[in-house]
Amino acid sequence: MRHLLGTEGLDVDTATAVLDTADELKRTLLGREVRKLPTLRGRTVVTLFYENSTRTRVSFEIAGKWMSADVVNVSASSSSVGKGESLRDTALTLAAAGADCVVVRHPASGAAHRLACWLEDNGTSVVNAGDGTHEHPTQALLDAATLRERLGGLTGRRVAIVGDVLHSRVARSNVHLLTTLGAEVVLVAPPTLLPVGVGEWPVTVSHQLDAELPAVDAVMMLRVQAERMHGGFFPSAREYSISYGLSQARQRLLPEHAVVLHPGPMLRGMEIASSVADAASAAITEQVRNGVHVRMAVLYHLLAGDNTADAADAATAQRAHGGEA
Ligand code: ASP
Repeated sequence: MRHLLGTEGLDVDTATAVLDTADELKRTLLGREVRKLPTLRGRTVVTLFYENSTRTRVSFEIAGKWMSADVVNVSASSSSVGKGESLRDTALTLAAAGADCVVVRHPASGAAHRLACWLEDNGTSVVNAGDGTHEHPTQALLDAATLRERLGGLTGRRVAIVGDVLHSRVARSNVHLLTTLGAEVVLVAPPTLLPVGVGEWPVTVSHQLDAELPAVDAVMMLRVQAERMHGGFFPSAREYSISYGLSQARQRLLPEHAVVLHPGPMLRGMEIASSVADAASAAITEQVRNGVHVRMAVLYHLLAGDNTADAADAATAQRAHGGEA
């Protein structure tokens, strides 16, 4: 894998390999006092964020550090971007300074692809950490890791993705990845929050949340992306919540084994009731935890050269020597 720009077109073998590596890394690090592997020693990862982030930025930083990479964080507000520098010049500067991988978040859909084109000759890998309303591939991978763990597999499982599909890069990446991995997806949203052309996606569409819940294995609630909305997409937050919020009463419609997911940040009380977010069926903190292992796996697949031992082998060898990197 040279870049990770999206889950569209990511083949089943590559996606499964990343998920398997993430599982292996999770098992390897479980219960260890010092969570540090030598795998990416000497590699430099730069996170370049033009939009706010808590989970994604922090977990990429932790992922890189747990694999001994040098991690540098650049936020647009405190860099030369604030002086008017273009994305291209910023990217070329980071590559010239020695970045082996740039993890980028940008409000424009397609920004990660552009960056990858500009860095084609530099050998720098690009990871899309969210581009506008387009894709957020590592979120979808960590969601798949969480569902595999909770449900034992994805083949034939039915997943409802609920809410602001129109503005959600999480929804797009999940539709591609979940269907590639053999799951069925139903999108549940008001007509105003569904994209044009959704009929051509490999999903079913519903406007009735109550009718869908009894038949799903997982429900993924989406945040209402107010920052991307220009105009009225629904009458009021209260009405949205009444029709599309996962209330305690609605939670009772779910099968007992069903998993509740949310990519965060959550708007408690609007798209999900607090009691539902904190219930045992919710895997929201597990998603965050798995996000670190999935991002470690992605960095491993992008940056570990042919001469580097398998991620788990490296960890095993290290254990055998009784040491930490
Ligand atoms: N954190 C996710 C994203 O960056 C979901 C969200 O913000 O609603 O797309």
